[in-house]
Amino acid sequence: MQKNWSQHLRNTIIGLAGTTFAGVYFGHPIYGLTAGLGIYLLWTLYHTYRLSQWLADPNTMNETPQSLGIWGNLFEKLHKLNQNYLQTRDRLRARIDRIQESTNAMRDGVIMTDAHGAMEWWNGSAEDLLGFRHNTDQGQYICNLIRTPAFKAYFDAKNYREPLELHSPAKPHIHLQIQISLFGKQSRLIVAKDVTRLHQLEQMRRDFVSNVSHEMRTPLTVISGYLETLVDNTDDLPAKWRRAINTMATQSFRMEALITDLILLSRIETGEKEVNDTTTNVNGLMQQICQDARTLSGENQHEITFNTSGRQQLKGDEKQLRSAFSNLVFNAVKYTPAQGQITVSWFSNSEGGHLSVKDTGAGIEQIHLPRLTERFYRADPSRHKDTGGTGLGLAIVKHVLINHDGNLEILSRVGEGSRFICHFPAKRLVSAAPE
Ligand code: ADP
Repeated sequence: MQKNWSQHLRNTIIGLAGTTFAGVYFGHPIYGLTAGLGIYLLWTLYHTYRLSQWLADPNTMNETPQSLGIWGNLFEKLHKLNQNYLQTRDRLRARIDRIQESTNAMRDGVIMTDAHGAMEWWNGSAEDLLGFRHNTDQGQYICNLIRTPAFKAYFDAKNYREPLELHSPAKPHIHLQIQISLFGKQSRLIVAKDVTRLHQLEQMRRDFVSNVSHEMRTPLTVISGYLETLVDNTDDLPAKWRRAINTMATQSFRMEALITDLILLSRIETGEKEVNDTTTNVNGLMQQICQDARTLSGENQHEITFNTSGRQQLKGDEKQLRSAFSNLVFNAVKYTPAQGQITVSWFSNSEGGHLSVKDTGAGIEQIHLPRLTERFYRADPSRHKDTGGTGLGLAIVKHVLINHDGNLEILSRVGEGSRFICHFPAKRLVSAAPE
């Protein structure tokens, strides 16, 4: 460019010098110079006009303007830049079309919103699953279109580690799993998956377990009843039958406990999601449970203490809470050697209410902690035979806490004992009136 410019300058000076010499020849050098400058000005104006015409719409004009010297160079460079720009634009457009085509082919709904939740883009499946419309919903706030309070709370909380499940606002029979990811400056990418089939299978599994448990309960009650009578009258039985009858009775009581827990778990999981939100007096409840735990401990003489830092009550279903808390305290009794200490505490802080059950038992290896609340998962299968547990206790605790918007924290170290803490959100706490 530098070279072209110096060439242009040289040519201009030569041209002006030529017209000036011609002026000298005719005895008017000033006229010659003025005529030269005038020609240069007209030439420049003409090319500026052509350039502005071409720049106004470079793609519809058939040809790029042609010229000599620096203007010719300028037109050529601009033409190349325009070609590059067109190629890049076409390439990007093709790529965007491809991405849109592939996301439209996805069965999951994909939605992009800005930092405030205004809808920027969504694919065809999102229209199908959530009922969005392209011509009217562009720029609308997603929380105005998915009006479920749970979705608004999930969207605003910005804690997207766990997905959210909800019914489709457009087709209530469709069950959706929503997962949000943050990108850019707090923009959100929302993926909605149709999990209706999975949900139906899960429902079928729950119904099956619940129905089988109910069906088995009646015959088992009859068997247990007769066995109990036989155990009460073992003196009348031949000696060779006594041991067998006692073992049968123990096993049938275990089965009864198992069925009771299965029925309770399926009831907590399904039918009673809408928990009865009466106020539960946790202090009173825990004192009763600790008393029952002392009876369970019997000769083992565990030292069971209950501490409370206030008179906060809990909004929730007392029956479910009793099952969860007693499972934790009875587990502490079962898994702590005789004369061990069990400390139960109920306290609250700015984060909510917390019920902690701490023992000085054998503790649990870290590897087992994440799976402990699974049904029938046992940290130490050799130990459970003595305790007579059903393997469902912590699964019941977990589901009761889910129903009460809470969660279970398990802290344990082998040889140092365990601590199970039920955390409840502050919205579930109710201050008790002073006595
Ligand atoms: P179980 O009927 O076997 O007690 P749970 O679901 O209540 O079933 O507990 C699951 C497993 O967690 C138990 O088998 C036991 O290995 C472990 N566990 C629960 N509570 C304690 C505790 N306080 N100390 C040590 N291990 C425990």
